[in-house]
Amino acid sequence: METFRSFWSSLDREQRERDCAAMTADDVCHALAADELTPRDFLALLSPAAAPYLEAMAQRARELTTRYFGYAVNVFTPLYISDVCTNHCRYCGFNVNNKQKRTHLSVDEAVEEAMAIARQGFEDILLLTGEAPKLSSPEYIASVVRRIKPHFASIGIEVYSLSEEDYRLMVESGVNNMTMFQETYNPELYAWLHPAGPKSNYAWRLEAPERAARAGMRSLGFGALLGLDRMEHDGFATGMHAWWMQHNYPGTDIGVSIPRICNHVGDFAIPHELDDRRFVQYVCALRLFLPRATITCSSRESADMRNHLVSICVNRVSAGVSTAVGGRVHQTETPPQFDITDARDMRTMARDLEQRGFQIVLKDWEDPTLTNARKGA
Ligand code: SF4
Repeated sequence: METFRSFWSSLDREQRERDCAAMTADDVCHALAADELTPRDFLALLSPAAAPYLEAMAQRARELTTRYFGYAVNVFTPLYISDVCTNHCRYCGFNVNNKQKRTHLSVDEAVEEAMAIARQGFEDILLLTGEAPKLSSPEYIASVVRRIKPHFASIGIEVYSLSEEDYRLMVESGVNNMTMFQETYNPELYAWLHPAGPKSNYAWRLEAPERAARAGMRSLGFGALLGLDRMEHDGFATGMHAWWMQHNYPGTDIGVSIPRICNHVGDFAIPHELDDRRFVQYVCALRLFLPRATITCSSRESADMRNHLVSICVNRVSAGVSTAVGGRVHQTETPPQFDITDARDMRTMARDLEQRGFQIVLKDWEDPTLTNARKGA
């Protein structure tokens, strides 16, 4: 059976660069008028030829977002439960070479943090850990999930790549969505960025969403860390990954996250920094190519940028964010993974979006098995 890895490796990077550079205004207009975009249309919208059409792209993106999501914006919050990590990612403050104090919450502490989040009214929580499988084992994550499940409509994970069996454990425990950032879809660059540690296995990470889908995960999120490689490569690859999964695993919901790389502890120089205009071009192109996909924008972006993107194409945002471990009940001395730019809590987010005509949605799904558990919670 074809995998995304075999599909992606069959596409020629140099040919794509030539195709992208050769795109014309006609190609962009064709993509803007199409009901269903092909991968070539998507590439046209990412190309330099689309830059003068940003306003037209934004208008089309707004039409599609309104058609499929109305004026509703899903809101979630992340909870970091451990920053112990054995990986060497050159761009991350949690990498093993940064000799900083680390924090690993016990199951009880993680549950206390989650309860504080539930009391704020959040229904959608995202659990994050570094990659230290002995300490933050699948069983540890599952134990936290089982305990907090009665208090949340949706529990997501953004953790290291798991086996199909471990994804099944996550699903059985109450996880209904997973996000796997491939960081970059360029295997050579990936190898340089991840010189050691379990994450250095590019293929294992690339195939994680397929393992999760086979394990019954309801919703899958994709993303590259924008700024590592050029947009026509990693932006295109992210859209193609989501598109390929949508065609091959039609029973799953598909989402895309759009993180631009932030400064962190250390001296990593961002190789291909994405300016605001190119960033908005990318997100609009994603909406046109994947009209029904959830597009999530995190607090890495400013309040202004997030307000702007919600009015065009983003339909899921975080609020009340801490990127340090815990942060609601247990204050730790460890520095956060990255600096957030938008510190709005849920109330402020709701008020700001309401002023723009949007309504926040705290839950749009409830696990049927959860209903009874919540009654007894
Ligand atoms: S990006 Fe993730 S895996 Fe890499 S060092 Fe940071 S926490 Fe660890």
